[in-house]
Amino acid sequence: MRNVLLALVLVLAGGAAPMTPAPGPPRIVGQGGTGCIQGAVRLPDEAPGLQTIRLAKSSFWGHPDTIAHLRDLGLRAKAAGFPDLYMGDLSAPRGGPLAGGHMSHQMGLDADIYLDLTPHPPRSHAQRETLEPPSLVRPDGRAVDPARWRPEHATLLKLAATLPGVDRVLVNAAIKKQLCETVTGDRAWIRLIRPWWGHASHMHINFICPAGQPECPPRPAPPPSGDGCDASLQWWFDQLDTPRTPQLAAKPPKPPALPAACRAIMSAPG
Ligand SMILES: [Zn+2]
Repeated sequence: MRNVLLALVLVLAGGAAPMTPAPGPPRIVGQGGTGCIQGAVRLPDEAPGLQTIRLAKSSFWGHPDTIAHLRDLGLRAKAAGFPDLYMGDLSAPRGGPLAGGHMSHQMGLDADIYLDLTPHPPRSHAQRETLEPPSLVRPDGRAVDPARWRPEHATLLKLAATLPGVDRVLVNAAIKKQLCETVTGDRAWIRLIRPWWGHASHMHINFICPAGQPECPPRPAPPPSGDGCDASLQWWFDQLDTPRTPQLAAKPPKPPALPAACRAIMSAPG
């Protein structure tokens, strides 16, 4: 009991979070990126088509469906002849805020996956600890870097966007623009690719809450029609001409508090 109380105090104080998942059937509590998860499972460090990177600083836990979908993506990438995908953060063992400034990744439904398709051999854990896959976007943010972008990147984004249960895939606006301008044939999947700040070297996949999770109400869906290759995309480039205010740059918004039901999940004995 004392350990449980200590864990709860640490979590509520913003200190060390539990290193083990909360036992029990999968249960997700939260919405809009803020929440927690019970019954999370860990993505293996190596799976067909996948390798985790920066293991010491990252967390690789998720809802069992999330892990299954990511393993499916690894198989799809491997079948397409791609090198192993480098996997970044998923969620902490019990969700909640993640180190590194992520505002989401709290409910076992998010994953960062690098868009590095240059051939690379399997690497040791030590070698993977310091990997920094390069940006695919020009330094001015207005287009992809033609020295790095390949049509295969669009293929990889399509493999991700067509996984079951994908809510959205976030990438830099320049990457979305490249898809808008070059993808032919089936373009339905482009609707799920959404522009966001950063995300120039990785994509962020967000899955919808699986069925049977009443404490995880659905988010507003992406635009119901259209591919998003319109004025809403141009908005991101217009912002490049408008310097962001110093207050915004210096003081990120305080993350919202975890739902009350997360206290039991965060403090449950491991
Ligand atoms: Zn992310």
